[in-house]
Amino acid sequence: MAFPTRTCVLCEEEFELKPNHAGYANRCPQCNTPEDDEAPSAQTAAFEGKREADAARRQAIKDMLYPGK
Ligand SMILES: [Zn+2]
Repeated sequence: MAFPTRTCVLCEEEFELKPNHAGYANRCPQCNTPEDDEAPSAQTAAFEGKREADAARRQAIKDMLYPGK
């Protein structure tokens, strides 16, 4: 079964857009890793804000798992 071929906007590699393709449809699986869903080149304020939000979320989970530290 053939899948539509797309060109990744980040590394310009061609990849098959499969039904279970996670993340951005215009990025290849290598550029679509869950831990790095922002482009490394996108060193924007929004990116920094997201990182801080991730850290806050991790801290909240930690507090939930280990309360009363
Ligand atoms: Zn790519």
